Amino acid sequence: PVLDMPNARETLRATFGFDDFRGRQAEVVERTLAGQSSLAVMPTGAGKSLTYQLPAVMLEGTCVVISPLIALMHDQLRSARANGIHAATLTSADADWRETQDAFRAGELDLLYVAPERASQPAFRDFLSSARLALFAIDEAHCVSEWGHDFRPDYRMLRPLMDAFADVPRLALTATADKQTRADILTQLGIPEGGLVLAGFDRPNIRYAIRHRDNPVRQLATLMSERPGPGIVYAPTRRKVEDLAEKLAAATGRSVLPYHAGLDPETRAANQAAFVASEDMVIVATVAFGMGIDKPDVRFVAHVGVPKSIEAYYQETGRAGRDGDPSAATMFWGAGDFATARMRLAEVDEDRRNAERARLDALAALVETPECRRAVLLRHFGEDPPATCGNCDNCLDAPDVTDATELARKLLSA
Ligand code: ADP
Ligand code: MG
Repeated sequence: PVLDMPNARETLRATFGFDDFRGRQAEVVERTLAGQSSLAVMPTGAGKSLTYQLPAVMLEGTCVVISPLIALMHDQLRSARANGIHAATLTSADADWRETQDAFRAGELDLLYVAPERASQPAFRDFLSSARLALFAIDEAHCVSEWGHDFRPDYRMLRPLMDAFADVPRLALTATADKQTRADILTQLGIPEGGLVLAGFDRPNIRYAIRHRDNPVRQLATLMSERPGPGIVYAPTRRKVEDLAEKLAAATGRSVLPYHAGLDPETRAANQAAFVASEDMVIVATVAFGMGIDKPDVRFVAHVGVPKSIEAYYQETGRAGRDGDPSAATMFWGAGDFATARMRLAEVDEDRRNAERARLDALAALVETPECRRAVLLRHFGEDPPATCGNCDNCLDAPDVTDATELARKLLSA
């Protein structure tokens, strides 16, 4: 396998324009070129796409990429084509099915993106048999696990499909998978345990803080004045998004726009584009906002209310500071948030309820801990962190123990 690595570096430069692999990309590429299956768990922005796109360019045959969202597929398609890679999508939103199928059969495609729904169709298996396959890449692989935070039953149909092409290596990719989810992904997709490549989760430039919510508009306005660049505020409902956007704009005089699924598509696209282009705008949004947005200079991510899980929290706060500059992730929570979330558990299918409850408990532990937030976060993802990070609210505002001891002594001796 090592023999191919000089070629891989050459392709990295020639096709992608990068001088070096980042983090553990090289390891994943090397395994894949050697025909080994892997699960790559790397934080958002680490560069997971490259780990299948590069082998797809080098290997003979087509790399079939499973991706859960049409919008994500089309983003990937654009950037792959911009690098001169032969790529196509087969989704309900595409009109050029015939051309794509012909190109695949002729062996002309490096990458073929498909939605998991297609994998369950016998006709698709037959279609894949009509040309040579290089690799299966399963993006957002946590969707295959009920322990993951975004279970998609169709991902379960991937295993029988891939088993029909047993010689083709598999590369599963995700940014957010705790230990249990990782084990489940390996089993569900038939990847050997030794294939796990787990990259570092720490984002040292992000300052984590979790505070009680008393007056969110005032608290957010303070945060905005401390972190003057672009920011994202996540709010739980469309109504709260609208309300907060309006009040924050009035309170700060800054440009603040809303984003949620209830806005008409033009407004939504316009607000997103304005945010991506801006150097100081704040967007108030539901969790519908953020996937696939590549904005490196977000200076803060705030949560008004609690996210769904630690995975969701990590993914959402991970949109801050992708450029490595100091940034903040601040949550403003109230005890009622957990009560509401627990009440919603009653509506969840019974087989999913335990997993959801466990996720909520883990999140509550993070919110209530007097310990280092980063330590709790990293341990959740199976990393061994230092006891304190010096860059979270609990490390920075820790009560000064020497002072307390001093005070106690004075009181006792008085
Ligand atoms: P992920 O899927 O892990 O969140 P992406 O694959 O979308 O990340 O990559 C994030 C960004 O990193 C992209 O802009 C990509 O071009 C860039 N990138 C990937 N690999 C490298 C590298 N080796 N050197 C520099 N930039 C890279
Ligand atoms: Mg990705």
